[in-house]
Amino acid sequence: FDMFFLAFVERLFRPTFKKDDFVLGKKLGEGAFGVVYRASLTKKPSSKVPYQKEGDLVLKKATEYGAVEIWMNERVRRACSNSCADFVHGFLENSSKKGAEYWLIWRYEGEATLYDLMQSKEFPYNVERMIVKEVQDLPRGLERENTIIQTIMRQLLFALDGLHSTGIVHRDIKPQNIIFSEGSRTFKIIDLGAAADLRVGINYIPKEFLLDPRYAAPEQYIMSTQTPSAPSAPVATALSPVLWQMNLPDRFDIYSTGLIFLQMAFSGLRSDSALIQFNRQLKRCDYDLNAWRKSVEPRASSDLRKGFELLDLDGGIGWELLTSMVRYKAGQRISAKGALANPYFDREGLLVLSLMQ
Ligand code: ADP
Ligand code: MG
Repeated sequence: FDMFFLAFVERLFRPTFKKDDFVLGKKLGEGAFGVVYRASLTKKPSSKVPYQKEGDLVLKKATEYGAVEIWMNERVRRACSNSCADFVHGFLENSSKKGAEYWLIWRYEGEATLYDLMQSKEFPYNVERMIVKEVQDLPRGLERENTIIQTIMRQLLFALDGLHSTGIVHRDIKPQNIIFSEGSRTFKIIDLGAAADLRVGINYIPKEFLLDPRYAAPEQYIMSTQTPSAPSAPVATALSPVLWQMNLPDRFDIYSTGLIFLQMAFSGLRSDSALIQFNRQLKRCDYDLNAWRKSVEPRASSDLRKGFELLDLDGGIGWELLTSMVRYKAGQRISAKGALANPYFDREGLLVLSLMQ
């Protein structure tokens, strides 16, 4: 009851928008379920409305799944707003030609996703420049790279912990869905189109076809085959903590986050084809990262060796964290909160000037 009442009150006082309020700019992305544009407000409705500068907004025109995405974004805004891109408004647009279309509007957070940043040869130093106010003139090397990667991981896990504590599993965590927010100088999660809200059973049955196989944990089909379909909202609210513990569905996101950690540490695994090949190798090793390491280390390229060296720093706490995230059994994977408490994040790094830590 609380949640719905609060949602209702919040709606009353928040500015709402309609189709004519927006002018579309450059296309930022196009998937099977929607098109994303940079956008601006056409007129300045009132001084109380933020986001009035040109290109301040991002607009997604979504198919029927947009309804779930609006629900998730409104939940996030109330419960863990720092985890995801700032959501402005979402509504159903009934244009006679195309049928129902959902419009979702966010604040434009910045131009780069973690994917874009990882494609650069400069990574992770290009990120250091963005998260640190004044980059000190330190020698480049493993220690410094590790500190930057550590900061990114901490921000990512912090955002993820917010979602999971709210009862939301994202299910499509990948570098393309992590945006660098220039305003807060932190990474935020985007694209809640495949997310599930377990407390109220919204979208409880996973849409497997939405999942990205490159980052999906091996149990990708388990939730839908082992759990009954979502009960109606009030019942689900009472039941869900139990379901949550039975399946630990949040650990699905942890596996994906582990693969991102891996790609940050190993430059040779950042391309799609390398990741797909890695997934095949790991499967052959029964998802045992230590076994994978044994199989590749003897004839490892210099890229691969450098990754192991980075994760082996400080007694191997990075490798330890990685192996506690990328495990076959969901129940054996560490939680987002547990990962944040891992010794890997204890050591005071070089990024003493970094914000928000
Ligand atoms: P899709 O369903 O197409 O994957 P996303 O929500 O992931 O939709 O958005 C597609 C792309 O648009 C993202 O990869 C990112 O580059 C850009 N984008 C999305 N939201 C924002 C935002 N709030 N600020 C800046 N760019 C964004
Ligand atoms: Mg996306």
